[in-house]
Amino acid sequence: MFNSFEKIIYFALFLLFLIVRKYFTAKYRKSDYKKGKIKVLDTILLLLNGIGMIIPLIYSFSEILDFANYNRPFCMSIFGIIILIIAIICLWFSHYNLGSNWTPTLGIKKDHRLVKNGIYKYIRHPMYSAHIIWALGQMALLPNWIAGFSFILFSILLPLLRIKDEEHMMIEQFGERYKRYMKESGIIFPRLKFNK
Ligand code: SAH
Repeated sequence: MFNSFEKIIYFALFLLFLIVRKYFTAKYRKSDYKKGKIKVLDTILLLLNGIGMIIPLIYSFSEILDFANYNRPFCMSIFGIIILIIAIICLWFSHYNLGSNWTPTLGIKKDHRLVKNGIYKYIRHPMYSAHIIWALGQMALLPNWIAGFSFILFSILLPLLRIKDEEHMMIEQFGERYKRYMKESGIIFPRLKFNK
């Protein structure tokens, strides 16, 4: 258990990520909302996402996966820590700005408000970005072919599948206002603006 620096740090940062997530989801889960369609593939990907984040915990708590370790410069670990912290900050801002408009599965709340401020001014799906950034940090921090790479594929696949349906739902709800918002913001990462 915890036989390397990377394993301890990953576990500590994972706890922090989880605390941010649980703090906001517990706060806003209760209220009722009109659920959109839940696709089977979506549920499967959600599950695979969870597994992709849990494998590094198995790696941290045991030595079972150590056979897949590889060597690389220590600075990669520092780089990974910085990326993971950025992911936590991004997750925190997403939840903080989205507030009570957050829903666990796609759906519209009773008093749903279109959020375009804070991090949502620049990106329409910062919560999905936070997960992709996390997956990149995991890859950089953990020098293991299994635990390092277990999340990257699913963290990209889930938003790829969801965003089309989510934006379709938002256009149905907010019409032109959402279409205008789409032109002003980036999807997963901020738009590059080249000013005159
Ligand atoms: N895709 C967003 C939000 C994920 S939570 C992100 O990655 O940050 C999913 C719910 O958020 C959706 O069911 C939708 O109701 C709500 N949502 C998404 N974008 C929103 C916005 N700009 N304003 C208000 N609610 C939004």
